[in-house]
Amino acid sequence: TPAVMWFRRDLRLSDNPALLEAVADGPVLALFVLDPALWRPAGPSRRAYLAASLRGLDRDLRRRGSRLSVVRGDPVRRVPLAARAVGAGRVHVSADFGPYGSRRDAAVERALTERGVELVRTGSPYAVAPGRVTTGAGAAYQVFTPFSRAWADHGWRGPVDAPRGGSWLELDEGTADLPEPALPARLELPEAGEAAAGRRWRELLETVAAYDEERDRPDLDATSRMSAHLRWGEIHPRTMLADLARLRSTGAAAYRTELAWREFFADVLWARPETAREYLRPAFARMRYDEPGARFDAWREGRTGFPLVDAGMRQLRATGWMHNRVRMVVASFLVKDLHVEWRHGARHFLRWLVDGDLASNQQNWQWAAGSGVDAAPYFRIFNPTAQGRRFDPAGDYVRRWVPELAAAADPHDPSPADRAAAGYPEAVVDHATERREALARWEEIR
Ligand code: FAD
Repeated sequence: TPAVMWFRRDLRLSDNPALLEAVADGPVLALFVLDPALWRPAGPSRRAYLAASLRGLDRDLRRRGSRLSVVRGDPVRRVPLAARAVGAGRVHVSADFGPYGSRRDAAVERALTERGVELVRTGSPYAVAPGRVTTGAGAAYQVFTPFSRAWADHGWRGPVDAPRGGSWLELDEGTADLPEPALPARLELPEAGEAAAGRRWRELLETVAAYDEERDRPDLDATSRMSAHLRWGEIHPRTMLADLARLRSTGAAAYRTELAWREFFADVLWARPETAREYLRPAFARMRYDEPGARFDAWREGRTGFPLVDAGMRQLRATGWMHNRVRMVVASFLVKDLHVEWRHGARHFLRWLVDGDLASNQQNWQWAAGSGVDAAPYFRIFNPTAQGRRFDPAGDYVRRWVPELAAAADPHDPSPADRAAAGYPEAVVDHATERREALARWEEIR
C-alpha cells in the first residue's frame, strides 16, 4: 500500500526509522507541510535555514528518483488531502513531543482516522524519547545529574541506515515551490542539510578531545555548531552518540553531557508543557519586572554599551547563532540588569536562532532567570565585563562583532574617550546598581 512520509524536524534520509517503516509499506510520498503557524513567527535567518535544509532534502531524494512534495497550509487539512491523493493507508512520522507539535499531531491523527488512514509514530528527535526516563516514583526528573545517569542507563538503539531502494510517489497538484525567502544582506548562515551536517560532525570528531577545555571561549571556534543540524534533524543524536562511544577523551565525555542536556530539557518541557510560557518556579511570577522599552530595544539591537552583550546580540542577528557562554551572559543581563522578563528575550531568540528550539530555548532562559529546573541560583549574577575578560581574554570576539571597538585599548571596558571616538554608546545601566536592585526584588519573593 502507498504510504506518506511526513517530514517535520527529521530532514534526513539516514538513521530515520520512520522513513524505513514508510518504505516497508510500499511506494512513498515524501511530504513537507509549510505550516503558517510555524513559518509566520520565524525570522529571516530561521526561514532561510529551513528553506536551505528542505532544498538539501529534495536534492537527496532526487538522487533516489524521488522529490520532496511541499504543500502550504494547516497540516490538519493538508496531510489527509495528500494521503488521499496517493491512496495512502498510513502516514509515517517521527514523534513530536513539543506542546504545539503534539496537539497538531493529535488533530491530524483524528482527521486521518476519520478517513481510515493510520498515523504511525516511529522514533523521535532524541536518543531517548521524552517521558521514558523517570525517577523511581515514576515522575520526571527535576535535576540534571540524576537524569543524565538514568538516561545513560536507559540506553538507545544503534543508528540505522538509509533505506535501500524504495519506490516513490509525488503529488501532481497543490504543491508549492520550495520556499526561497529573501535573505537580508550580510546574513552568514551555516550550510544546511544532511550532507553538511555529516561533514561538520566528522570534522568535529577530529577535534572533540579539546572540547571540554575550550567550549566556553567565544573567541575560538571551539564548539561543534551542530545545534541547527540537530534542531532540524539533519543528523540524529543516536548517530553522534554511537561515534562518541568509540572515543575515550574527556572532551568526548563532555560533549555527550551536552547532548544529555538537550534531552533533559525536552523531557522537562514534555512533562511541564506550560513552562514554554510560565515560570517553572511559580514564585518568580510574583517578582517585580520592568516592561520592555527602550533598553530592551538596545539589547535586541546590540547597543547596550556592554561590549560582550552587544557582540553576542549582533552575532545572533548576523549569523542566526550565538556562542553558549554569551547566550548565558545576554540572558542574565536582560533579566537581572534590565529586569525584563525572560519570555521577551526567549521570543527574540526564537525569531532569530537557526537552532531555535522551544525546549532548549525556554528551559535555558528559565535556567538563566533562576526560575527553571536545576537553575543557576538567582543571586549568582553575571558581570558582563568580567565575563568578557575571562572568556574572551584578548577581546577578539568583541572586536569581531563590535568592530567600532577594534582600536579601543580595553575592548571589554572602553574608556569614555574610546567610546566617543568609536561612536559606541555609554552603558545603558550601571551594573553594580542594577545588581543590587535585582537582589532587592528577589528578596521580595523569597
Ligand atoms: P556545542 O557546545 O557544540 O554543544 C553540542 C550540542 O549539545 C549542541 O548542538 C546542543 O544540541 C547541545 N547543547 C549544548 N548546550 C546545551 C544547553 N545548554 N541546552 C540544551 N542543549 C545543549 N540550544 C538550542 O539548540 N536551541 C536553542 O534555542 C537554545 N537556546 C538557548 C538559550 C539560552 C538563553 C541559552 C543560555 C542557551 C540556549 N541553547 C539553545 C543552548 C546552547 O547555547 C546551544 O545549544 C549551543 O550554543 C549550540 O552551539 P553548538 O552546537 O556549537 O554547541
